[in-house]
Amino acid sequence: MLLNDAADLAQDQLALFITAVVVFALLIGSFLNVVILRLPVMMERAWRRDAQQMLESDVSFAGDAGSEPISLAHPPSTCPKCGHRIRAWENVPVISYVFLRGRCGQCRAPISMRYPLVEIATALLSVVVALQFGASWLTLAALLLTWALIALTMIDIDHQLLPDSITLPLLWLGLIVNSQGLLVPLDDALWGAVFGYLSLWSVYWGFKLLTGKEGMGYGDFKLLAALGAWLGWQALPMVIILSSLVGAVIGIAMILLLGRDKNVPIPFGPYLAIAGWIVLLWGDVLSGHFRLLSA
Ligand SMILES: [Zn+2]
Repeated sequence: MLLNDAADLAQDQLALFITAVVVFALLIGSFLNVVILRLPVMMERAWRRDAQQMLESDVSFAGDAGSEPISLAHPPSTCPKCGHRIRAWENVPVISYVFLRGRCGQCRAPISMRYPLVEIATALLSVVVALQFGASWLTLAALLLTWALIALTMIDIDHQLLPDSITLPLLWLGLIVNSQGLLVPLDDALWGAVFGYLSLWSVYWGFKLLTGKEGMGYGDFKLLAALGAWLGWQALPMVIILSSLVGAVIGIAMILLLGRDKNVPIPFGPYLAIAGWIVLLWGDVLSGHFRLLSA
């Protein structure tokens, strides 16, 4: 009887915890949509400003003239078709989308499915993290990593770009998290960052010297350095093997389903991000299998 009560209480607490994670993660997902949309635009404008200053040129580029300054917080979101400002009730993650049947409240222009999908994916992945690590500091840290990886994945798909303003703080954060030994000892994290960067850097130069082509970008090195800082140097081979597997599976699926041309470059960042996330959650289990295979 007592045992049952205790089990019920634990069930209630778990339900409450998961509900809180879902609600919070949906809001974060909504914010990630803003980051994914605006950060690359902000970066591009900054590059242009720098280039203009360096060339001391007064030439302004098309699209720059009179464009409002933007940041993640400003200006408020509007409909790209009619400029209708999105009101608070139209901005509730997923629910507003369903309620408005995926259309602007003013001009009825369709809103991309991507927004609710990113929110739902953020919620789902966050729940997996919360179930895996429970109510702990580790969950909070792992959630931050998960959200950053979602933003990086989408921005890389859109722009073949992994912004320094996400990858570099992520690297520091991994070192800080592991200064408390949350995932791996600080030593392992430090060498993880070093070897993460250097391993892809050497592949890049090897590939470039052999073929004259550039297979990946510096953003990929920084992302793997960040993953090394979070997961430790021991996890790096697994991250690389897994990302190649994920890349092969998705690549073949895309060629089969979409008939995608094999020569179209597919960014490597999303595969690294997915592989890093899998190792974050199930690295222990996987390395057990690896050891069995090599034994
Ligand atoms: Zn509209």
